Amino acid sequence: MKSDLLEQLPSLTFFRGRVALYAILKALGVQKGDEVALQAFTCLAVPEAIMATQGQPLYIDVEGAGVNMDPSDLERKISSKTKAVVIQHTYGIPADMTALVSIAEARGIPVVEDCCHTFESAINNKTVGNFGVASFYSYEWGKPLVVGIGGSAIINDPSLLKTVKLNYEIFLDPPGSNAMRLQLQYLAHKILYRPRLYWPIKSIFHLLGAVGAAESNYNPVKEGSIAVDFHLRMALGLRRRLVAKLGSIESVTAHSNKIVSQYDNGITSDAVARVVTPDASKTVYARYPILVKNKQELLRRAKRAGVELAEWYATPVHPLKPNEWSSIHYEEGCCPNAEMRCAEIVTLPTHPAVTVRDASRVVHFLNQR
Ligand SMILES: *Cc1c(COP(=O)(O)O)cnc(C)c1O
Repeated sequence: MKSDLLEQLPSLTFFRGRVALYAILKALGVQKGDEVALQAFTCLAVPEAIMATQGQPLYIDVEGAGVNMDPSDLERKISSKTKAVVIQHTYGIPADMTALVSIAEARGIPVVEDCCHTFESAINNKTVGNFGVASFYSYEWGKPLVVGIGGSAIINDPSLLKTVKLNYEIFLDPPGSNAMRLQLQYLAHKILYRPRLYWPIKSIFHLLGAVGAAESNYNPVKEGSIAVDFHLRMALGLRRRLVAKLGSIESVTAHSNKIVSQYDNGITSDAVARVVTPDASKTVYARYPILVKNKQELLRRAKRAGVELAEWYATPVHPLKPNEWSSIHYEEGCCPNAEMRCAEIVTLPTHPAVTVRDASRVVHFLNQR
């Protein structure tokens, strides 16, 4: 773990990861009429941040057999309207940075890395977050380091850093009631979240989110309007918790590696395919993806068996359904690999609450079929 990362993560903290991305894009000058490239096979948070700047998302497909941005599709779609490229390291698997960065650099377009799934993955011994002008991180429930809700921006380019810092002055602290609710949510998550309780907790969380009693993950995106979240910093109490928990990144990583090797060695079913990772890379998995033919049936069986399997991403811009895609400018068929991946991927947990026994249950569940 690099100590400069530990120092930088608490310095520019925002209400959420997407707000950190928004702040970076604003400082890069993204405005109405500009495009920002991102991969399909992502979550709504990313286009939401782009659209909050009034920029338009430009969806790039994922690689034929992978979960990260396809350099050849970026090459095809990038244009003079493209103002920035957001590169995601999906599940912690590093993207093909050598190819992607060179395409962007050749046109003088800045690269921003979405490191929400990983702190420590690396490619050719270079840690993610060091390839572009900036990177951002998230601390919400599904991420490697759970702090509640919040995110950080890390800026590598000195002049961009100046702008982001200056703009940061006008971000506000969230109202106290909001901070209190997030603290309660954090405690409930910490006490309750076990792999065996994944399905019931998921149902309850959705219910509470729907009635506004819990901070739900997505804001309705409306063209030309911007959610209040985008004006906010991370609550002070949560930021304090972030500082206190940063030291545990190494143990979270070690735990993830241990659980992943259990999956790697244990899963022998030939109905399960793996996602390939790039050469000379080190992956620290936020979740461990597998490809299956009967995704929906498998999810139903996992729910019955009390086994934690997640469906994300279920759609190219999770969780939006096809009839909602136009709201974020996703056109059906524009990223066929991403759409295919959604139909065949499920992910296994690697987080600190997963015990060796839980992982064995997952392995057994998958091998049984
Ligand atoms: C979680 C996540 C984000 C943003 O997270 P928030 O903190 O909820 O805004 C962005 N990109 C990816 C890939 C994520 O998984």
